[in-house]
This record gives sequence, C-alpha cells and structure tokens, in this order.
Amino acid sequence: MSIFLSSFESITGMPEVVGFIFVFIFGAVIGSFLNVVIHRVPNEESIVFPNSACPKCGKAIAGYDNIPILSWLLLGGKCRNCKEPISFRYPAVELLTALSFVLVFWRVGFDPLLPVGLIFVAVTIALMFIDAEHMILPNVITYPFFIFALLMRIIYPIAFGTVFSDMLALPMSSMSGYPTWIISLVGALLGALAGGGSLWLVGEVWKRLRGVEAMGLGDVKMMLGFGALLGWRLALFSIFIGAFAGAVIGIGVIIKQKDKNFQAQIPFGIFLGIGSVTALLFGEQMIAWYMRTFVP
Ligand SMILES: [Zn+2]
Repeated sequence: MSIFLSSFESITGMPEVVGFIFVFIFGAVIGSFLNVVIHRVPNEESIVFPNSACPKCGKAIAGYDNIPILSWLLLGGKCRNCKEPISFRYPAVELLTALSFVLVFWRVGFDPLLPVGLIFVAVTIALMFIDAEHMILPNVITYPFFIFALLMRIIYPIAFGTVFSDMLALPMSSMSGYPTWIISLVGALLGALAGGGSLWLVGEVWKRLRGVEAMGLGDVKMMLGFGALLGWRLALFSIFIGAFAGAVIGIGVIIKQKDKNFQAQIPFGIFLGIGSVTALLFGEQMIAWYMRTFVP
C-alpha cells in the first residue's frame, strides 16, 4: 500500500486528536459487528437478523446494553437478565478493532486508502478469531475479499491516481508504457500468486514428502486476497513474519504438550493475519531498513 500521510487537521481544520478519537469509536462499533460475524458466520447464520441475544437465556440485548466495550464493563461481564458471564472475547474484539483502526489511521493518514486499510484489518480480525475457535477460514469471507482486493487495485489508480508500493518494484516498474490500472492489476495478480501460490506450493511439497496435510486451503485463499492488495514483496514479507511468529508459538505449544504430538494443529490463519497487518502498517519501512543494513 502507498502511504501518503495527509493531515486530518489540514483537511478538516479540526485537531488531529479529534480524528483519532472518532476512528477509535468507529473501530469499537465495527468490532461489535465483527463479534456477530465471528459468532454467526461459522454456523452459517445470518449476520443481519435476528438482533443480538444472550446465548444463555435467549433474552434480546437492549440497545443501551450493546455499547461497545463500555456495556461489558458496566454490566461487570454478566447478562443483565440471567447474570450468566458474557465472554471476555466480546470487549476484547471491540478494543482490538478500535486500536487497530487507530494504528491504520496513524500510518495511512486521512487518505482515500484509509477505508481500504480499515476493511483490511477488520477482515483480518474476523478471520483470526474464527480460525482460533473453529480452525477454518470461511470461503464467504476469503473469496469476496479477493474480489474486493482486485477491484480496489483497478479502481484506485483510475479514481485517485494511487500508486501501490509494489508498482515501483520489478517487474511492474518496467511497464511504464501501460495504463496505471493495468500495472496495478498485474501487481495484484503477482501478489496473489506470491501470497496464495507460495503457501499452496509449500503445502503440496510437504504433502508429497510426509504424506500429511500441512496447510489448509483456507490459508491459501486468505493470502490470495491479502497478497493481491499488498503486492508480491509485502505478501512474502507477511508469510515470513507469520511463519516466524507461528514457529515461536508452535514450539512453545509443543514443549507444553505432554504427549509431544508434533502434528499439533495450529490455526496458521492467526499468524498470517499478524504478518499481513504488520506488512500493511510497517512492511515497506522494514524492507527498506533490511536492505540498507544487510544488502551491500
Ligand atoms: Zn442471559
């Protein structure tokens, strides 16, 4: 993604901090919606109807008890009606989404790309929590996100003159005679190939060598979309960070396990999510630092 850093203050005339507070509140509200997605999508339930209800007593949750983060705190983490504990996951997702939105706003600025960045982290959070609980990355999220990524890569260069960072890298940098949206689309397809294709290849090689399924196709489909949006360099960077984080946590899990089962199932989507958001926010800077430091 390209980083333009337009100032909220210079455009709206309001202090920067107002922008951050607004983005935080908006993030908490979206987090509240993501809770519904995380709870209902794996069960193939509608995310629009019916309204939220207590999973224990079934009583509908009133609007004043459905304020992100605050209601859970005010109710002491219990249902107002039956006093059953409400999972800490609900305020945690709301707070995580709010903080992630603030991070994206800080990095991307008040820019046309801001909504794309916010959708990126919102989808990532939904996928990570669903994978943690159910060990799946639902097609109803990964497929539409791939289409969304391709559309953004076509529309943004035309509508806003956006130059995605991978368009300055080879082979796109050698395509100067072509319209920018075609250069952007080629970058998106290469990114999808680098993100999804490389994971698929690793899984295939592992399957041939060891005779076991190492990689779910959900991980591949997830990285098709993320790779398309990020471009091939940041897609590979995402997988590198994700594999590194996954290895550290995975070794910890294996050490703690009593039966030393080395085929411990780890929801890799969580780590790919961490890697992809790191790539979105800091990938370009980290690659530049690496090149300066280690490449002569
Ligand atoms: Zn209840």
